[in-house]
Amino acid sequence: MVISDSRPERSAVLDARDLGSLLEALQLRGYGPVGPTIVGDAVVLRPIAGVDELPSGVGDAQEPGSYRLAPRDDGRFFGHNLGPSSAKRFLFPPVRSLWTAIRIGPQVRIEANDDPPPKIALIGLRACDLAAIAIQDRVFGREPYVDPHYQAARENALLIAVNCSQAAATCFCASMGTGPRVGGGFDLCLTELLDAGGHRFLVEAGSEKGDQVLADLPTTVATERDRRAARAESDRAQAQIQRRLDTDGLKDVLYRNAEHPYWNTVGERCLACGNCTLVCPTCFCATVEDASDLTGDRTERTRIWDSCFNLEFSYIHGGSVRTSTAARYRQWITHKLGAWIEQFGTSGCVGCGRCIAWCPVGIDITEEAGRLRSEDRAPQPVGR
Ligand code: SF4
Ligand code: SF4
Repeated sequence: MVISDSRPERSAVLDARDLGSLLEALQLRGYGPVGPTIVGDAVVLRPIAGVDELPSGVGDAQEPGSYRLAPRDDGRFFGHNLGPSSAKRFLFPPVRSLWTAIRIGPQVRIEANDDPPPKIALIGLRACDLAAIAIQDRVFGREPYVDPHYQAARENALLIAVNCSQAAATCFCASMGTGPRVGGGFDLCLTELLDAGGHRFLVEAGSEKGDQVLADLPTTVATERDRRAARAESDRAQAQIQRRLDTDGLKDVLYRNAEHPYWNTVGERCLACGNCTLVCPTCFCATVEDASDLTGDRTERTRIWDSCFNLEFSYIHGGSVRTSTAARYRQWITHKLGAWIEQFGTSGCVGCGRCIAWCPVGIDITEEAGRLRSEDRAPQPVGR
């Protein structure tokens, strides 16, 4: 598994009018740019051809169960917060063909789908997105269970981060230790600056590949004033973060309260729609489907995203293990904030807040975990 070197080796300033040169440099090196753009009423990551597709002058307002675009008058390219999509969509796609079986007379030939994924540059990743990629690197890249498709996509991806200059009401990266300032794991990191010094980007290279791209750009030397301005952008975002999740001993709180009646209260509100798992940048559950053509001579196996909120997800020969919605919500949050730590040595949550904004009924992981903690059935002393 290739993990980007996180050492900032070089930084420089790029005038905002020259942002197009970054896309050109990426394309010249064979990377298809994937960046934030408006699709429908949301900012999502999609392949882009030019900077005119970036959501310039667009912000957003997010609350539990609510996401709205909002115009802003400063022309920032990255003045929005996270939308529903993440790098997961490109490194671990929602649908992927694994192999095809073809009947040829009495024989069956299996053809693996090992086509290499395209080289892409993921532009606009935030600090919590990079933390989520680092988590998925552990999930898919740990020996001996390396996922070759993820590994190939990861090796072909250049990560271009953007430091947040504001926080949404749903963000809680600060209490998860994942943001808002980008710490590492990027090839290039941009901080958008807009002050008396003009509209510009402080560009930092965090890997050799990033350094090579940076060398292609028409930059000027970064001054101490640019660095101070960049720090102020992150400080503003940090100061805006109000939401928090107390992770101290949370795994044990969740384990201890597996039979707490509060799960039924959440279960009555939860629609088991699975939105939270689909927008989550770390959730990795998948299933496989086999489909034959009408002649019966050709069958394709496809991997598709699944969700622990689906009844069939826990089906084991003869029935589902988690038949109630309450049990499925408990499974999701207990795995995400508890069992994940035992499995992968890290929480499964990076505090991006997507599951809060995109839950149609506004169920909030920070509130539910906090409520469990407040009603914690602390262990009782064992009698003699
Ligand atoms: S659980 Fe929610 S807040 Fe945490 S990483 Fe997933 S989507 Fe983001
Ligand atoms: S918590 Fe919200 S988003 Fe997740 S399954 Fe329940 S209703 Fe859907």
